[in-house]
Amino acid sequence: SLTIGIVGLPNVGKSTMFNALTRNNVLAENYPFATIEPNTGIVPLPDKRLPVLAKLVGTEKIVPATVTFVDIAGIVKGASEGEGLGNKFLANIREADAICEVVRAFEDKDIVHVNGKVDPADDVETINTELILADLQTIENALPKLEKDQRGGKVTKEYIGAVNQAKAILEAGETIDHAAAAGKIDKADLYDLHLMTAKPFIYVFNVDDDELQRQELKDRLTASVAPAQAIFLNAQFESDLTELDEDDAHEMLADAGLQESGLDQLARVGFDVLGLQTFLTAGVKEVRAWQIHQGWTAPQAAGAIHSDFERGFIKADIVSYEDFVAAEGSMARIKEEGKLRQEGRDYVMQDGDVVEFKFNV
Ligand code: GDP
Repeated sequence: SLTIGIVGLPNVGKSTMFNALTRNNVLAENYPFATIEPNTGIVPLPDKRLPVLAKLVGTEKIVPATVTFVDIAGIVKGASEGEGLGNKFLANIREADAICEVVRAFEDKDIVHVNGKVDPADDVETINTELILADLQTIENALPKLEKDQRGGKVTKEYIGAVNQAKAILEAGETIDHAAAAGKIDKADLYDLHLMTAKPFIYVFNVDDDELQRQELKDRLTASVAPAQAIFLNAQFESDLTELDEDDAHEMLADAGLQESGLDQLARVGFDVLGLQTFLTAGVKEVRAWQIHQGWTAPQAAGAIHSDFERGFIKADIVSYEDFVAAEGSMARIKEEGKLRQEGRDYVMQDGDVVEFKFNV
């Protein structure tokens, strides 16, 4: 499955956040036979629709979609040259499908900052520079062979052009993800290079409670990484939240003036940047959110449940979540009101589709 690698300088709150994430672990319950590496955290994708559906169809069992995070050893200046844990670090990042950069924005004089001062923008630059340098090395290693292959007609001039353009972007200190968002380069053209900075980035700013209220600070940090997504959370607070039962956690969130925990926000944003979406099934046995790739068709989605469903796909009976709830889950009413859609092979799944697949066995 797709994973999000958590990276950051030492002492920024990565472990605190990661441990809080893994305390949310749903995997053991729903996938008892899965083995999990200790540095992997599989967390539920928060979805308020699931308990509503479960109540309507009268089941206790809810299976959410999941988001997988991998804790990657701390990065330091010089990592791209193999300093410290550099090589291992880079290998781990290459395996991840998205990068979650944890950046310290909290002031605490008792906790030493590796660079001597708390400067979030500077930390982002330190980390991104290491990733950019490593990508430049990848390109420099690949170019001689690519140029030879071009002379031999095995790769196109356009491809070499795209690689050189990527090189220029990186040399100017910009990540490929950032440049691609600005329309300067097409990531698809560079796919074969597996560049680290071509992965989608999420920035988590670890802040203290009073900083959470400083809109001007948040706006400034958000702008500094845009259009990548920025999330603000207090890792210590999030950690404390996971120790509480649901009601107490709700109360603590409300007291802090928050709608949603930072970890829930992170799971949602992470799921989205991985290019994933869900569809829903609501049966008497269980209510479940199934994860698929954005843009998948109905037969592909059926295949996410069982490969036989994809092979024997006939059609999908679909009602939107809103219509399902409006009809209080009554199929008779849904049909009567003309809200049940029958979709065929070419239908592209939409978020909030409540689905029943019809298939031949
Ligand atoms: P890592 O090296 O990035 O994994 O950082 P840790 O999670 O080990 O945190 C480093 C230190 O910072 C620990 O003493 C944490 O208790 C503390 N810390 C983490 N998050 C926060 C926070 O949001 N506020 C404050 N004040 N301290 C924090």
